[in-house]
Amino acid sequence: MTAPHPTVGVLALQGDVREHVAALEAGGARAVRVRRRSELEDVDGLVLPGGESTTIDRLLRVFELRDALRARIADGLPVYGSCAGMILLADRLLDGARDQQTLGGLDVTVRRNAFGRQVDSWEEDLELTGITGDGPPVDAVFIRAPWVEEAGPDVEVVGRLGSGPAAGRIVAVRQGALLATSFHPEITGDDRVHRHFVAMVRQRL
Ligand code: GLN
Repeated sequence: MTAPHPTVGVLALQGDVREHVAALEAGGARAVRVRRRSELEDVDGLVLPGGESTTIDRLLRVFELRDALRARIADGLPVYGSCAGMILLADRLLDGARDQQTLGGLDVTVRRNAFGRQVDSWEEDLELTGITGDGPPVDAVFIRAPWVEEAGPDVEVVGRLGSGPAAGRIVAVRQGALLATSFHPEITGDDRVHRHFVAMVRQRL
């Protein structure tokens, strides 16, 4: 039976947790914060929020969540990573901090802080394959954001930058149950990316 409101967790170790909780509720999910292994066991899907990937990586180990989360990802748990969350989902990382680890799952190479010092933040209207459709583009806000430098053959490119010095760079991807964006849809009040993710979660119930 398809549950109308799947339970979607937001990893709540660090980052913009509250915004994702609100966007998930708007997108049709029951949103819960995840800090413990027992809480991770109860979710149908998970959001890895934006924040600081080095801190989240460290706290995942301190809270003994890292191995459990890797196991659930390998088991097909739908996960959406935004910004720092995209970094955490990447199989390969460029410009990471020393000793920084990712969870992996997405067959991509991600460059951390890719926009460089000159362009700490960037904003652009983006078409997202399978998400914006005939509707208006998404107002994509990038804050010290990563981008996808290289994507493997099974990775679907969902969005690319269309203008500016980084035009053509991949900033949204999907592979199976994993979705990642370099930008922060949770801060713009546009719930279409979260709605899309909730639909991905429902498909796996
Ligand atoms: N630069 C941050 C990192 O390395 C990501 C920034 C963000 O999530 N807004 O994790």
